[in-house]
Amino acid sequence: MKKRLGLIYGGKSAEHEVSLSTARAVTQAVDFDRFEVIPVYITYDGEWRKGQSLERPIENIEDLRLKGDGTHKPDSIHDFLNGSSGALDVVFPLLHGTNGEDGTVQGLLEVMNLPYVGNGVLASSAGMDKVVMKQLFAQAGLSQVAYVHFIRSEWNANSAQLIEQMEKELEYPMFVKPANLGSSVGISKAVDEKSLTKAIELALKFDRRIIVEQGITAREIEMGVMGNDHPKCSVAGEIKPVTEFYDYEAKYSDGNTVLVIPAKVPEEVRKKMVEMSIKAYKVLDCSGLVRSDFFVGANDEVLINEVNTMPGFTPTSMFPLLWQKTGVTYPELIDELIELALERHAEKQ
Ligand code: ADP
Ligand code: MG
Ligand code: MG
Repeated sequence: MKKRLGLIYGGKSAEHEVSLSTARAVTQAVDFDRFEVIPVYITYDGEWRKGQSLERPIENIEDLRLKGDGTHKPDSIHDFLNGSSGALDVVFPLLHGTNGEDGTVQGLLEVMNLPYVGNGVLASSAGMDKVVMKQLFAQAGLSQVAYVHFIRSEWNANSAQLIEQMEKELEYPMFVKPANLGSSVGISKAVDEKSLTKAIELALKFDRRIIVEQGITAREIEMGVMGNDHPKCSVAGEIKPVTEFYDYEAKYSDGNTVLVIPAKVPEEVRKKMVEMSIKAYKVLDCSGLVRSDFFVGANDEVLINEVNTMPGFTPTSMFPLLWQKTGVTYPELIDELIELALERHAEKQ
């Protein structure tokens, strides 16, 4: 019997198009002899559209933008996803950012009792909020940059006091970020009070919660982690952005960003990254996969920047490339993630 695999992609997110590329790549890598692949497209407006089982891998990305003809309007999400043709056996949410990577879709799948690939509700939401993530990391004794955080109403009530606090606790340059996004959206570097205020006003357009971090000059090195209770790490990879920092453009449009895999780092640095990756994985109670991102300073000091609970997943993204260099091909990676999803689900029953 073939397993019915639901692919959820698109989404109300800045990473909608990236998600489509991932979905296409996954259809091309999945073994159609073992899986019946059912596409579920979330439009930019947040409408869910389920298509017929795919007969073959998708070549043209436009075929993934399922048309809404009224028949896709579900009475309930449960009937919609499972439908009359039988329940899905496992779901692969290929979504990034809010409403996909942040625990919301994961919660929906939990309530429906459907096995799904990747992190559960807790890890997804804790990993999406940079403040919560950093506080948990701090508690676990993981080294990271200093930071200050606040919410919009506190800023509106007394911005001068907050600026004073930041200038006391941090030095320029500082990095200002919306707490709950990814892909560098809304992030800017501030070099003085004027640009700090501007950066905060910009970040507040994206989120009511803001984090301001100590800016550092460091190499950016990442590691893939995969597993449930016994996670394992990939080789490390370095990002060499040509832009001033690894911003949205550099991530998605700029072909010049160089990925060096494996990263050239001393063995102690690599070991430290493995140790910190596993600690971070455990403290957020991750399962399935994460990409853990580090700053490595000139003196080889290792600081954790963040973990991404649904890292970029096209065949040319860092996470799959890291595993490829570790000896796990893209189709094998997908297989293993599905196995981990089923294993976690079975343990819960
Ligand atoms: P996202 O979740 O959007 O990827 P990050 O926190 O990883 O957000 O920040 C995006 C990029 O901004 C990083 O990859 C790095 O290039 C730069 N950056 C972020 N924080 C700092 C910092 N504290 N010091 C120096 N560069 C930073
Ligand atoms: Mg991120
Ligand atoms: Mg990042």
